[in-house]
Amino acid sequence: LVKARGRNSFRFYQPQMNVNLLSHLKMDHAMRLAMDKGLFRLHYQPQISLANGSLQGAEALLRWTDDELGVVSPGLFIPLAEASGFITTLGTWVLEEAVRQATLWQNRGTPVTVSINVSALQFQQPDFVETVAAVINIAGLQPQLLELELTESILIQDANETLSRLHALSQLGVALSIDDFGTGYSSLAYLKRFPISKLKIDRSFVTGLPDDESDRAIVSATVGMARGLKLKVVAEGVETTAQRDYLASLGCASFQGFLCAPGLAADKFEELIASLPPSTA
Ligand code: C2E
Ligand code: MG
Ligand code: MG
Ligand code: MG
Repeated sequence: LVKARGRNSFRFYQPQMNVNLLSHLKMDHAMRLAMDKGLFRLHYQPQISLANGSLQGAEALLRWTDDELGVVSPGLFIPLAEASGFITTLGTWVLEEAVRQATLWQNRGTPVTVSINVSALQFQQPDFVETVAAVINIAGLQPQLLELELTESILIQDANETLSRLHALSQLGVALSIDDFGTGYSSLAYLKRFPISKLKIDRSFVTGLPDDESDRAIVSATVGMARGLKLKVVAEGVETTAQRDYLASLGCASFQGFLCAPGLAADKFEELIASLPPSTA
């Protein structure tokens, strides 16, 4: 039907496009209002050792419950914030909030390595490294207790600038990991060149474990490669004991997933970790 309308088919789409544009503007406005009202929160999802069940770290995940819109999923608002540029404001808030929380845990004598997700646009800000340095210094956080999760899309951009920025961050002492590993378009060469310390195996490869032959091949190759390159590895999205046991049999170091817990508010997260075996690392 659309095809038959030929060149005039854009008329058919126009009202819908305006609606989308309008709702994007509305959503962007709602995000800025929500920031002013303090409606964003961080939840913390534990990363658990497959060897002994101890806590290895936590990923900070952004949560937005709006007065009017209700719960808005990051899968919806993060891409919009990236498109509008608001992600730089949001990303700085996430950095400050995660560092505030990590410093609190550090100062209580229950240190937790907290990782935050960094968007490409945020990473590319000329003052990104200085901002990270300033935030951890002002708080008094040991830099190793902060980890930055970078996507492959960040790593394939302007190689020289990216490389020098990664080195500057690793000089600060913060840990760097590659998020959603295996889903991007990058080459394996950067694993050798970039000062990365951890790979996060994307949930899409974990879902089919242990039955799916391709997932088994991809995950075991990734775990083996990480071992050879002396990188830590975390499997994402582990929901079943069968997935966990298979990952353990490969020698995968740790996992994250609903099998242990979803992202939790800081107080609930504290209750959970109090029940875990102590870390030996
Ligand atoms: P991600 O960084 O790969 O985060 C993991 C996502 O998988 C989270 O979704 C988490 O809740 C979900 N997840 C964890 N375990 C399981 C599981 O066992 N099963 C299933 N089905 N899902 C699981 P969430 O919180 O909805 O976040 C989605 C994405 O939004 C994140 O993917 C990340 O790319 C982005 N995001 C979240 N918070 C931030 C942030 O503060 N800054 C930026 N730039 N992006 C963020
Ligand atoms: Mg992540
Ligand atoms: Mg991920
Ligand atoms: Mg993901």
